[in-house]
Amino acid sequence: MKIVGRFAPSPTGPLHIGSLFTALGSYLLAKSKGGEWFLRIDDLDKQRVIPEMMDDIFRTLEFFGFEWDREPIWQSKRDKSYQQALEVLKDKGLIYMCGCSRAEIARIATAPHGSSEELFYPGTCRNGIEKGKILRAARVRVPNDLIKFNDKVVGRYQQNLGEICGDFVVKRADGPFAYHLATVVDDFDSGVNQVVRGGDLLYSTPRQIYLQRVLGYPQPEYYHLPLILSEGGSKLSKRDNAISLMNSDDLLKRGNFLLKSALKLLGQRIPASSEADSPREILQYGITNFDFNVLPKVDSLKLSHYSKSGGSL
Ligand code: GLU
Repeated sequence: MKIVGRFAPSPTGPLHIGSLFTALGSYLLAKSKGGEWFLRIDDLDKQRVIPEMMDDIFRTLEFFGFEWDREPIWQSKRDKSYQQALEVLKDKGLIYMCGCSRAEIARIATAPHGSSEELFYPGTCRNGIEKGKILRAARVRVPNDLIKFNDKVVGRYQQNLGEICGDFVVKRADGPFAYHLATVVDDFDSGVNQVVRGGDLLYSTPRQIYLQRVLGYPQPEYYHLPLILSEGGSKLSKRDNAISLMNSDDLLKRGNFLLKSALKLLGQRIPASSEADSPREILQYGITNFDFNVLPKVDSLKLSHYSKSGGSL
């Protein structure tokens, strides 16, 4: 089966070395097996999207020599497909409207949940919305069962959605479709069978697998790559100019170094300058010499060998 992979950045800030790492990982995993690779722009969240970042993403990836085999997909243009999937879920009796505010859910959330940003939803509106409440979101019912899967990088992973998050939102009443539904529908519609992305999304993958199962979609292979942290161990900030790719004045000078750094973070061999001297040649070297077995199988990696002032690899 031909591999179809994608890189799906959110245009909420410029790409940084962590994005380059994920883009490169997804590119090499697809291309080293003769697969296809393309871009999806995750621009559903209009409040956080920075329109100028679209251009920046394309410019940066082009600069690094990435080539996509298909036209990019914009999530903001795909509401019709998401709506169709929502109708399928409705027909199966899995969707209900919820009138709870975040504050109300926070007050009643008692069950354990693993993410501080997300609240466990106890199913308050499962059997109907209380009189006088406004409709806030469509939620999908989840079972009290373990969802298990085998991540190609992380290994076995499992969650009981009924304990972790409860019935989750698939669409805001007056707003966008939720990312979980959108990504599942997009990957299915575009035949993506290899999802490579940052390890911060591992936690939400069982929700996506659940949606695939109830929608009757095949499950892609998952590769959750380590999160790239700063030298000090903190999350990379999109505003951190030191590691932003766009704001590197000397990107031209440092392009090869950055790409080799990303290759090295992926555990891969890096070419000597005599073997590959432009981003495109380095990418090609990465494809030809790609070794799955040396991919780092850890939660996070610090940019310890990466020097802000440049350096040579
Ligand atoms: N847009 C997501 C991000 O930037 C990635 C989504 C995905 O790969 O499914 O983290």
